[in-house]
Amino acid sequence: MALLKIAKLGNPILRQIAEEVSPKECKTPSFQQFLENMVETMRKRDGVGLAAPQVFISKRVIVVEAEDNPRYPESPTLPLLVIINPVLTNYSEETVESWEGCLSVDNLRGKVKRSACVHLSGYDRFMEKPIEIEAKGFLSVVFQHEVDHLNGLLYIDRINDLKMLSQLEEYDRYWSNAETANDAEAAVGLKTTH
Ligand code: ZN
Repeated sequence: MALLKIAKLGNPILRQIAEEVSPKECKTPSFQQFLENMVETMRKRDGVGLAAPQVFISKRVIVVEAEDNPRYPESPTLPLLVIINPVLTNYSEETVESWEGCLSVDNLRGKVKRSACVHLSGYDRFMEKPIEIEAKGFLSVVFQHEVDHLNGLLYIDRINDLKMLSQLEEYDRYWSNAETANDAEAAVGLKTTH
């Protein structure tokens, strides 16, 4: 396994539309190794999600996991998901607003409004089984953040009020506790890095 380098804000690969993965390509040992490396990189960097363009591969792949994350103890637990060619549909009109961060955007947190529920379709890591998930709350936010990466979008593009964009230290100081205390609904995505 290998830790992959993370593409940072300003790198053009983060703004490209990623290509679909073919079943033939997916089954190659090198692609399977790449998937392992993505999972390893997400875990080592304490992310709850990672999209392939963030590690310089412009393909439609996301990985998601939130378990015993020491930096984000308030994140709900999500089992490991490796999803090939994910497609989101049925965006709910009901929205949820939460603080997001990104491994490609160092040291910032911003408040983003997204659909509270969304349907994800895709394939498992070998492209042998379809995956269908009705996602709510935190998982819905993570899926939307990661699929945005496949379409060249970053969470900062979706911030309505840039006045609240915060460096991490100031976020911890001014916003973290206030959100937790005053707005439990909005706390679902608190302190998550994708
Ligand atoms: Zn991200």
